[in-house]
Amino acid sequence: MLGVASKAFFQTLSHSRILKTLASRYGMSGSRSFARRFIAGETIADAIDAVREIDARGMHHTLDYLGESVGTLAAAEAATRAYLALIEAVHLAGVEKNLSLKLTQLGLDVDKAICVDNLRRILAAGDRCGFFVRIDMESSKHAEVTIEIFETVWRHGNQNVGVVLQSALYRSEQDFERINKLGARIRLVKGAYREPKAVAYQDKSDVDAAYLRLAKRLVSEGTYPAIATHDEAILDGVKRFAAGQGVTPERFEFQMLYGIRRDLQTSLVAEGYRMRVYVPFGQEWFPYFMRRLGERPANVAFVLRSLLAER
Ligand SMILES: Cc1cc2nc3c(=O)[nH]c(=O)nc-3n(C[C@H](O)[C@H](O)[C@H](O)COP(=O)(O)OP(=O)(O)OC[C@H]3O[C@@H](n4cnc5c(N)ncnc54)[C@H](O)[C@@H]3O)c2cc1C
Repeated sequence: MLGVASKAFFQTLSHSRILKTLASRYGMSGSRSFARRFIAGETIADAIDAVREIDARGMHHTLDYLGESVGTLAAAEAATRAYLALIEAVHLAGVEKNLSLKLTQLGLDVDKAICVDNLRRILAAGDRCGFFVRIDMESSKHAEVTIEIFETVWRHGNQNVGVVLQSALYRSEQDFERINKLGARIRLVKGAYREPKAVAYQDKSDVDAAYLRLAKRLVSEGTYPAIATHDEAILDGVKRFAAGQGVTPERFEFQMLYGIRRDLQTSLVAEGYRMRVYVPFGQEWFPYFMRRLGERPANVAFVLRSLLAER
């Protein structure tokens, strides 16, 4: 239960303005900036430098321009334009074209129709130069609408787009059937948000068991699925299952977050598996960063050590 409690604690802290101000002041500047471990930087240039390094290690990447839960249409428009600028910059840089985004960043909580328009603008620009776009999954209250919007754009012909399912949510088995029928690409994660008992497993062992169950279905029935986890036991289970079913490594990919378990990222590539690293960047890094702390309280010690060393 420590996991649930620490997720809840850090999710609450992620709304603290004082902490956010302090973090913005100290987190990304200085030679030992603690946020840099998990965030590639604040600018597109930082992000492109980071993905070049990842690509040079024989890995793939997906770029996430950080931002979520915007409260105004102006902020949603700014995020949309930032994604359009990112598409242009990635295209010019000649690196792999793969993005991840969040619908609440495009205005979902303000005006659903405008959010869909914003998403379509990004998908249209991306389609013109061969991008794949993944719609991240946010908290459970956004799950149904996220899948509905995904289905809408998919049926309109934007098929270079995929979604995410969280094994923590009870509904994900049914969502798997619904999305898999379309032949769409699914990324499977455990789920980064604190969720109530009514909708989600509370015990880590249940979340992990649901993960392995869904991962096996994805590997045998899915369309180029993404198994996104740093959990070694699950990774071993998936590798064994795929080999047993004769599913070769180019039919799925593993994904991990920037700065987390780089050792495992490297060893999976050495074993011949595909590895995609999720590379977040931008100025709105605080909520993302707090979720990473909540997942592993040992990260707090790392942050404190960095701050003390900096002083
Ligand atoms: C590519 C990718 C995309 C994601 N997209 C989404 C999304 O769209 N929606 C969503 O809700 N969640 C998303 N997540 C986050 C996910 O839901 C989990 O919160 C996160 O991956 C931690 O769970 P785990 O599967 O690694 O397993 P855990 O059981 O939490 O961790 C297993 C091991 O991984 C390492 N580890 C895990 N987290 C950390 C950390 N923060 N710092 C250091 N080490 C750590 C530790 O060694 C730990 O023992 C994404 C994760 C990845 C990898």
